[in-house]
Amino acid sequence: MTDDEQGTDNPEAPGLTPELRALIEATKGFMPSDEGRALTRLASEAFGAGPVLEIGSYCGKSALYLGVAARELPGAVVFTLDHHRGSEETQPGWEHHDPETVDAETGRIDTLPFLRRALAAAGLEDVVVSIVGESTTVARHWRTPLGMLFIDGGHGAEVAAADYDGWARWVARGGTLAIHDVFPDPADGGQPPYHLWLRALESGAFAEAGRQGSLRWLRRTTGGAGDPVD
Ligand code: SAH
Ligand code: MG
Repeated sequence: MTDDEQGTDNPEAPGLTPELRALIEATKGFMPSDEGRALTRLASEAFGAGPVLEIGSYCGKSALYLGVAARELPGAVVFTLDHHRGSEETQPGWEHHDPETVDAETGRIDTLPFLRRALAAAGLEDVVVSIVGESTTVARHWRTPLGMLFIDGGHGAEVAAADYDGWARWVARGGTLAIHDVFPDPADGGQPPYHLWLRALESGAFAEAGRQGSLRWLRRTTGGAGDPVD
């Protein structure tokens, strides 16, 4: 069976029908399809331990890969968090800037309308809940054990470290911590996500569990949600 023939019973990516795959691939964003399929599979395995939370919605591409898994399981929910004002590298003049994401009225980036359209088009509004805000502010008030945390927000050293500081402890025992854009070689990309991955390993709270492209994931092996992971 080729990739394109795989349907809802695809054990590699439950819920990812050919129609949804085409829709997701046409959605703006920064998630290669092989890594996206890995996200679908990881999410489908994680919901037993709690909801999935993504840091960095942008226009919804990765949220859709996570959301299709949620629709397969009654009660499963994905939270996707973003202030929707863009990261450093998506601001005007930077490499990943997309002028279509600028709100003509304010002159600032606003990716929330793109996210909402993507969720509606994929029929995932009931299982993907958008949180609009600054990651550290939301983290300060978060108390729910996570089946999976997916870190794909700001890639600057301080912003990335703050995401780990605020969120990693909320991964439930047995749950998954996934990190995007992990590049051990600086020639391939920025180092902060790689440093998060190293930090998670060195903490002893997480064990390496797999990788696909620049996506790497770990499983929480010690402590429980809320316990420190440093
Ligand atoms: N996961 C997306 C890409 C995310 S790009 C995809 O698959 O296409 C990173 C996003 O993180 C941007 O939309 C930016 O607005 C958001 N972001 C960066 N720093 C943030 C912070 N401190 N709090 C909330 N969102 C943040
Ligand atoms: Mg990314």
